[in-house]
Amino acid sequence: MKKKIVIIGGGIGGLSAGIYALKAGYEAAIYEKNPVAGGECMGWNRKGCHIDNCIHWLTGTDSSTSVWQVWNTMGALDKDTPYAATDKFYSSRLNGQEATLWKDLDRTERELIALSPEDEAEIKKFIQHVRYAESCTIPGEKPMDMMKIGDYIKMGKSMANMPKVMKEYGKTDLRGLAERFHSPLLKKLMTDYLPAEYTAYSFLVSYATMTSGNGNIPVGGSLAMTNRIIERFKAMGGELHTNTPVKRIITENGTARGIELENGEKVMADEVISAVDPSFLFGRLLDRKFMPKEFESAYSESKKYPTTSGFQIAFKTDDDISVEDTVFFGCEPVAIGSRRFDRIYVKNYGYDKTFAPEGKAVLQTNIPQSDEDFAYWKSLYKEEYKAKKQQLIEEVTKRIVTEFPELEGRLEFLDCWTPLTYERYCNAYHGAYMAFVTTPDSKQVKIKGVLKGLKNFYMAGQWIMSPGGLPIAAISGKFAVQRILKKEKRSIEI
Ligand SMILES: Cc1cc2nc3c(=O)[nH]c(=O)nc-3n(C[C@H](O)[C@H](O)[C@H](O)COP(=O)(O)OP(=O)(O)OC[C@H]3O[C@@H](n4cnc5c(N)ncnc54)[C@H](O)[C@@H]3O)c2cc1C
Repeated sequence: MKKKIVIIGGGIGGLSAGIYALKAGYEAAIYEKNPVAGGECMGWNRKGCHIDNCIHWLTGTDSSTSVWQVWNTMGALDKDTPYAATDKFYSSRLNGQEATLWKDLDRTERELIALSPEDEAEIKKFIQHVRYAESCTIPGEKPMDMMKIGDYIKMGKSMANMPKVMKEYGKTDLRGLAERFHSPLLKKLMTDYLPAEYTAYSFLVSYATMTSGNGNIPVGGSLAMTNRIIERFKAMGGELHTNTPVKRIITENGTARGIELENGEKVMADEVISAVDPSFLFGRLLDRKFMPKEFESAYSESKKYPTTSGFQIAFKTDDDISVEDTVFFGCEPVAIGSRRFDRIYVKNYGYDKTFAPEGKAVLQTNIPQSDEDFAYWKSLYKEEYKAKKQQLIEEVTKRIVTEFPELEGRLEFLDCWTPLTYERYCNAYHGAYMAFVTTPDSKQVKIKGVLKGLKNFYMAGQWIMSPGGLPIAAISGKFAVQRILKKEKRSIEI
């Protein structure tokens, strides 16, 4: 008889675990609390438009990488997947000038030098190191602790240029990177996209993922990709139980035996994989005593291990507006709690014609939110929360129109959501949409996903390796299944 694996959570991590469990010959059943699977890799429809919640870039679109192999196994991507024809990462505006990080690095270099000749040496260094960072790929074949010497040599060779990036930018955050430039516009360009406390090298790697062709946006966006993965899971014989929240993990004599659902039903299994947020897992589904020490210290030091969420608004607009892709700009400050935000962005989703009716496009804005901002949103009563959202919708709309006067009267409100939305929808810690931010003061939070004192239990999901994100969620499910295979002394090559 086949062994049965139950998986808690139907996000990308849980779906990956399910698909790889089936591939390895197990029975797999996923239990998801929401009406649809996908978790944070989601999109929804409003007024005939589609709001894409997730993919700004998908790491692993280069078919020569091991992460692409994982996406391909999951049914997310294949050799014919069409990608959005975007040609830039984003632009930043300041005092009437605009600087852009193009996919074409030569063009970026040329234009940035023209904007700030006195920064030429620093710009050239930055561009050169983005080229070096193009060699950085996420190892998706097997967990690092299962690698053999040959695997390390192969990885070292393929990422030969990464040590140069780490040497130059490994110990600085984005604020430090910005300080290297004289031009106020270039300083903004360096800090607009990711929070200023992020390590500079992770920003270079993000940009390099795009310039190298390994970070594209599949047409149809996040929901379409999630649906392809769900179809693959079901076609392979997997059971997907939606609207089925899990209440606890059943343990007996230090062994996971199955799960109990909120409706009281018990589901027994040979192995249990949790792909939910660890802040919910430990304390709600499992006794907190099982929490790995890496998480304990990260949760207790939120300055050193921050997380990021967002306050977001989506609008319907016309498809002939001049906003090209993502543009950051300065504005009269917007207050959220005790913090003031004087830069926001708009992103025009017009690059994907499937998101809006003919002649229309979706425009979104996002104000990054920290752990402190989450606490503010959490402190509000229901009516205050609604009123604050309404106030921000009005203020942010005005700021956008001030920057882009052509949008006056052409922004139709579609939806607005906050860090609390992600907490409610996914049980996401502080509404975070990635795992812990790696800062120059903190160590990368990385765990194997097995717990001391609990057999037959494995963790998947983006939190197993910061900074998380879709590729980590995808490989995490595969890795959890490989750990089961290893325990059974079977080949881990799946
Ligand atoms: C706005 C935004 C933009 C992003 N942009 C990018 C990007 O450009 N590139 C990128 O790589 N990543 C991006 N991400 C991050 C990416 O979406 C996540 O890394 C990834 O989706 C996380 O997957 P996961 O499976 O680990 O977790 P989740 O998606 O959180 O899945 C966990 C699942 O568990 C379910 N669950 C929780 N509690 C229970 C319970 N008790 N019982 C049953 N089920 C439960 C949840 O409903 C959820 O479906 C973005 C995220 C957001 C929000």
